[in-house]
Amino acid sequence: MKIINEMTITFKALSVNEAFARSLVAAFCVQVNPTLDEITDIKTAVSEAVTNSVVHAYPKGNGDITINVKLYENSALITVADAGIGISNLEKAREPFFTTKPDEERSGMGFTVMETFMNSVEVSKNGSHGVKVQMMKNFGEVKRKIVGE
Ligand code: ATP
Ligand code: MG
Repeated sequence: MKIINEMTITFKALSVNEAFARSLVAAFCVQVNPTLDEITDIKTAVSEAVTNSVVHAYPKGNGDITINVKLYENSALITVADAGIGISNLEKAREPFFTTKPDEERSGMGFTVMETFMNSVEVSKNGSHGVKVQMMKNFGEVKRKIVGE
């Protein structure tokens, strides 16, 4: 697959940046003509990943979040990464309703939401610490199905 465009942005892990991040990624993806539904899916998934880095990654203070988007003709690969405390049990963290912050009105559905709205979600360590979430969104799947491509 050939990358036709790419961008990387780094910003502070503050909740005020959540809306900014999801709008920015959506605006960048518009050039490959996604449907409105596909844009909404991307916004929802990016929001969950960024919120996780804001809420969980840096309990002792400030840190950064980096988002990279690689655009292909019919898809986007979106990476959201932080350099925070990381996740000790990645498998457990992805289970529906698993949360380490039940007292703060967290429902443990963030990763499940990302999986629902994206075609694939990979969660891994970001280097020696931190979390890296890689999400793939394929565009035009419904359209291609209708015209039988
Ligand atoms: P919700 O997303 O429904 O508000 P949640 O954030 O707890 O609740 P998930 O997004 O599914 O649920 O994440 C599950 C758990 O994984 C979190 O409770 C947290 O312990 C851990 N986690 C997720 N992202 C990170 C991160 N970037 N850094 C450290 N821990 C994380
Ligand atoms: Mg979450």
